[in-house]
Amino acid sequence: MESAERPPLPHSRLHFTIQLLVLLFAALSAGAAAQSLPAADTLLVNARLYTVNSRQPWAEALAVRGGNIVAVGTAAQIEKYRGPSTRVINAGGRLVLPGFTDCHIHFMDGSLSLQRINVEDVKTIAGIQEAVRKFAAAHPRDPWILGRGWSYDVFGKAALPDKKYLDEVVPDRPVLLEGYDGHTYWANSKALAAAGITRNTPDPPNGKIVRDAQGEPTGALKEDAAVELVQRVIPQPSPEERLHALRQGMAAANKAGLVRVHSAGGDFAYLDLLNELREKGQLTLRFYVSDIARPPQLMAEEITKLEQARAKYHDEWVSGGAVKFFLDGVVESHTAAMLQPYADDPTQTGKLFWEPDNYKRAVAELNGRGFQVFTHAIGDRAVRLALDSYQASYQANKGKNLRDRVEHIETISAADIPRFGQLGVIASMQPLHAYPNADTLKVWSPNIGPERTTRAWVWHSITASGGRLAFGSDWPVVTLRPWPGVQTALTRQTAEGAPAGGFVPNERITLPQTIEAYTLGAAYAGHREKTEGSLQPGKVADLILLNQNLFKIPANQANKTQVLLTMVGGKVVYQAADFSNRAAK
Ligand SMILES: [Zn+2]
Repeated sequence: MESAERPPLPHSRLHFTIQLLVLLFAALSAGAAAQSLPAADTLLVNARLYTVNSRQPWAEALAVRGGNIVAVGTAAQIEKYRGPSTRVINAGGRLVLPGFTDCHIHFMDGSLSLQRINVEDVKTIAGIQEAVRKFAAAHPRDPWILGRGWSYDVFGKAALPDKKYLDEVVPDRPVLLEGYDGHTYWANSKALAAAGITRNTPDPPNGKIVRDAQGEPTGALKEDAAVELVQRVIPQPSPEERLHALRQGMAAANKAGLVRVHSAGGDFAYLDLLNELREKGQLTLRFYVSDIARPPQLMAEEITKLEQARAKYHDEWVSGGAVKFFLDGVVESHTAAMLQPYADDPTQTGKLFWEPDNYKRAVAELNGRGFQVFTHAIGDRAVRLALDSYQASYQANKGKNLRDRVEHIETISAADIPRFGQLGVIASMQPLHAYPNADTLKVWSPNIGPERTTRAWVWHSITASGGRLAFGSDWPVVTLRPWPGVQTALTRQTAEGAPAGGFVPNERITLPQTIEAYTLGAAYAGHREKTEGSLQPGKVADLILLNQNLFKIPANQANKTQVLLTMVGGKVVYQAADFSNRAAK
């Protein structure tokens, strides 16, 4: 304080009085200054804040007002924002991060799946039969038995399901089980009959009705185009059932540490339901929603629909403005489009779902209107076409900050890796898809062979060459919880530590890189980095408090992370039952 630096006044009585007055005045004005900082709604104190703001990476506390962060700093700096009605959250010395964004999700499907059969942890045919039998018995009035989660390796060499296993346990009602990756479905005989699928039904374009040697459908249906034949006869959930599912999905997302999702398909038709939740004050998750553009070409009606959605929904809670393309399928069922034939079956190279010129034109047209493009591209041929098309579009749309995205990128030609950085294209990837389980090591990798496997999920190579990552789950393909994904990004091993040296271990990335891909990188990938993705003044108060300090534990413990508290827009939307505000640790 200035007065303290002045030379002492002579010790006369008058001067002593003046000195007292000066001190008193200084004290009063200091008090007034402290109170002139408007009080915060909430203080988060006693925290280890990893901010993802490179200018102030670590802090002890922060202050929130009106849904936004107003200050980040030391305990003493933040204490100044305490007012009579400020709520104080004591983090107990625990790690606090910006809330996570899931950049690739199918939210309605995932939310509905919470009430259906889930066999993702069941690894035998008999086990799946038992689960289906039990579920059917417990739901005697469901006209259809629906569920998901089986993986190809369960079926051994065939690597595809067969209707006979389901017929054995549910002969009298239709059953439809989605594969864990959402690209292949498993129907029983009743479901095929309900859909009118017989040996005479032709394969739809971009889909396949798998048949046995006699031409009889086996119950395996490859890709959306084939399963739509069945889906169109399944009774649809009512809007009330969908709202109920969305509330459950949001609760699960907040508990997992998510504050925003980027929808990669299936949610565009429900923007109005999301808006209804917002109007009721029930929205606890931010939504950026893409619509799926279907081949063979971009239709004028599609553009109108997109323009209308963007005009209506464009704020920090619900926004449209993105378009999703599927350029190919998946490696496991040989539907991913490859530059060279599959290693295990040289007669196949996969197939592009779009005729390249049609897709290129669609990208340039949408970019010209300022829409962001998400392209599902898993095989190296599909990845190349996406990059080529974005490059051509950027020539035609100079000066627009488009940030188009390639989704998945499971394998890639070495020549294409630096193009993400060069073009400013986002690599939107899902670390748990690289989880080195039997499906990855015994189906995925043999299908493309060892040489291309060296370029499996190249997170490190993309960032090292200047590209930006945005991470997500692809829920319900894998769990909504980002923490197993964090662990996989760090270790490229299973939870049990296999393989010992890691699966393509040179593509591991660091913890700060991983956190960034779920926070600031994710915000950037959704054009929200000015207001989201890091803990700094002026940004939204979206944060998570964790039970363990990721920076202090071994990487193979990251999947055990529990979220103790999630805040979205300054409101606590999830708090663990055993989180005590005062518990210090
Ligand atoms: Zn997806």
